[in-house]
Amino acid sequence: MDHMELAFKHLNRLDPRLVSFLEKQLQRIPAVRRRIAADTRAMMDEVAPALKPYQEDFATVATIPDKGPSHDEVLETMGRLQALETNRWQEGYASGAVYHGDPDHIAFLNRVYALYSQANPLHADLWPSITKFEAEIVAMTAAMLGGDDSRDPVCGTLSSGGTESILLAMKTYRDRARAEKGLRRPEMVVPVTAHAAFDKAAEYFDIKIVKIPVDRHYRADVRAAARALNRRTVVLVGSAPSFPHGMVDPIAELSELARRRGVGFHTDACLGGFVLPWAEALGYDVPPFDFRLPGVTSLSVDTHKYGYAAKGTSVVLYRTPALRRYQYFTIADWPGGLYCSPTFAGSRPGALSAACWAAMVSIGQNGYREATRRILETAADIKAGIREIPDLYILGDPLWVIAMASRRLDIYRVMDVMGRKGWSLNGLHRPSCVHLCVTLRHTQPGVAPRFISDLKAAVKEVRQAPATEGGMAPVYGLAANLPLRGVVGGILKAYVDALYRL
Ligand SMILES: *Cc1c(COP(=O)(O)O)cnc(C)c1O
Repeated sequence: MDHMELAFKHLNRLDPRLVSFLEKQLQRIPAVRRRIAADTRAMMDEVAPALKPYQEDFATVATIPDKGPSHDEVLETMGRLQALETNRWQEGYASGAVYHGDPDHIAFLNRVYALYSQANPLHADLWPSITKFEAEIVAMTAAMLGGDDSRDPVCGTLSSGGTESILLAMKTYRDRARAEKGLRRPEMVVPVTAHAAFDKAAEYFDIKIVKIPVDRHYRADVRAAARALNRRTVVLVGSAPSFPHGMVDPIAELSELARRRGVGFHTDACLGGFVLPWAEALGYDVPPFDFRLPGVTSLSVDTHKYGYAAKGTSVVLYRTPALRRYQYFTIADWPGGLYCSPTFAGSRPGALSAACWAAMVSIGQNGYREATRRILETAADIKAGIREIPDLYILGDPLWVIAMASRRLDIYRVMDVMGRKGWSLNGLHRPSCVHLCVTLRHTQPGVAPRFISDLKAAVKEVRQAPATEGGMAPVYGLAANLPLRGVVGGILKAYVDALYRL
């Protein structure tokens, strides 16, 4: 173990608040700041070529061309670029990312997009058909998620993605507490495994986020939740399932706790909303998570994941229209006219709503059930394959988002070797693990066996060979264990800067 690692190990034992204080003090020293900035820049210079692979073969366009090339020329260039990127996801090498991806389905959605590329639901008078599609998407989704069995008029809105659905719901609870209770310093109680969008909501809307731990099955700890609730809590959150480990939190217990304490409860079913209802219909053991539970007051669910729509849509549902109203924005005295909008955006892409509606009605209940059956059967094969590999274990007991770790090997090195074999897996930390989110892409013949044989070979290679230079393993190891979270945050900002470099 080198000195840095030893130092981190010790720092990790300190109170995080103390470490954060020490870090801030250190960063006040100009020499320290300069050194961190220089190291970050050097790191990014190394990463940059991987982020910009087309600099050699394609012209960089930094100003609007005087006279644009012809449509054919533009399409030719973009077609070549796109073709370079299709194989990996098409052939099932990606975790999540593309959830359906059959050429027929894509061609169908593209035709719908073409019909509506000019539509903007902000102008409901010009495109009332988009209004119809959006109302029906919300109604169909609510009915699938227990809205039909509830006495309450479950309702909602369309949004641009899971993150927006979550941000909207959190803003809604903040504003309700402000209006109905005069609450000025709201808090939300969220499992550590909940999606980063909840932290984003806390930062954007100035809500204090209180994290609760998960148990040894990676499910939110109900007793910790009970202790974390207080007079300022506006919402308690659970995932169905969580992004990192694919485990469904004990939503029945958590939502009942929230109901008894008079607190809102949000189920984040972004990942599972279009899988779990069909898994239940197929006879899988699915814990309750939707509006059939009286304590669940809102729910996020991504049509652009297992709803198999094009990217750019999600649904946020509320138990009552009264709660949904806190999401809306209205202004009555703007010189631009009477203005109102349901979500963060003003103008919105009506074509994406149209494509989402087309996906849902054309796939139908049979299609969703069949897709879920194929995904869960493939995931079962993959889990069985992983369990045969002695050095690996699966975290918790997930249905189709499979996180694996190792007690003996550096799991990030396994991920690196898989990367060289073409696989794009998700690296996770706290604890260190890697996951595969199984989609319809993986249900194609040969994909799951290829994953398992590549994984076996990767584990063997890591077991036998000493660590080589390069790869992302050291970066992950460092980022996971470095207690100086401000430094890690700075590196991430430099990464975003690098994405926007030419
Ligand atoms: C994907 C996901 C989100 C966020 O979705 P985006 O569409 O990427 O914004 C939120 N929660 C969970 C559990 C997810 O898997």
